[in-house]
Amino acid sequence: MTDRQIVRMRHEGARRRTLTVTEKRQLTPGMLSIRFSCHDWDGFASAGADDHLKIFVPGAPSEGGKPAMRDYTPRAFDVEKGEMSIDFALHDNPGPVTALAVSLTVGDTVEIGGPRGSVVIPDSYDWYWLIGDETAIPSITRRLNEWPGQKIDAYIAVTGSGEELSLAKGESHCIHWTHRPTSASANPAALVSLIEAQTLPEGDGYVWIAAEAAVTKALREAVLAKSHPQTQLKASGYWTWGLSDQTEKFG
Ligand SMILES: Cc1cc2nc3c(=O)[nH]c(=O)nc-3n(C[C@H](O)[C@H](O)[C@H](O)COP(=O)(O)OP(=O)(O)OC[C@H]3O[C@@H](n4cnc5c(N)ncnc54)[C@H](O)[C@@H]3O)c2cc1C
Repeated sequence: MTDRQIVRMRHEGARRRTLTVTEKRQLTPGMLSIRFSCHDWDGFASAGADDHLKIFVPGAPSEGGKPAMRDYTPRAFDVEKGEMSIDFALHDNPGPVTALAVSLTVGDTVEIGGPRGSVVIPDSYDWYWLIGDETAIPSITRRLNEWPGQKIDAYIAVTGSGEELSLAKGESHCIHWTHRPTSASANPAALVSLIEAQTLPEGDGYVWIAAEAAVTKALREAVLAKSHPQTQLKASGYWTWGLSDQTEKFG
């Protein structure tokens, strides 16, 4: 029998580090990619494609007694070169971290913390579905880069064809885009109807979902309605419409 154990790791070396901006690149009008240099990698580990860092905002008012910070995916990193890239989905109601990302210029520094842990999904499933909105694109990109040979279908909602990126890295990668306006980014309809129209592939698969919380919840239900096992699904609300710094885990 194939070993399909999900591995959970704690990273004891997780701590704050300083990154320096080396390049800012607009991948699309709505997706800003920032490359940072870092020369302090001691104890750094990121084993899961959906790991997250905390990005701290210097000088921002504290929130609930804690420094202002938000979760972002280390989309790519290279310890040898001392580089890390983080991609920021720009949106209409920017909070402290989106505002910080837009304001950064080459040479500026930011503080990050983590990742404090990783959840590593085995690469031995027959197929994978990766479903999400703009905030899921960095993790989906990392997963496609890491697994060029796996059978992966990604279902992604963006605001229009100008936001579509060239993500596939292998012949068995298929990217399915759907469009909805920013004002409907908490409306599950576009992604749910895309998922409802699909048939689960043959064999044993794993489904990963990350989007606005209400969208994630509806997508999780749509996938489970296809009799996909709950143990082979991870669904996270990466943000919540109308609320700052709000994430949710649906299991
Ligand atoms: C594990 C994890 C990994 C993540 N990785 C990434 C990543 O790599 N790149 C990325 O861009 N995001 C990522 N996110 C999502 C990101 O943390 C949130 O979108 C965050 O709220 C943005 O912070 P902010 O300072 O702009 O806004 P906040 O102060 O948190 O919110 C301000 C307002 O903006 C709204 N809002 C927040 N995000 C969005 C959005 N995307 N679209 C529309 N409205 C929004 C909120 O509802 C609120 O009304 C990740 C989240 C998690 C939990």
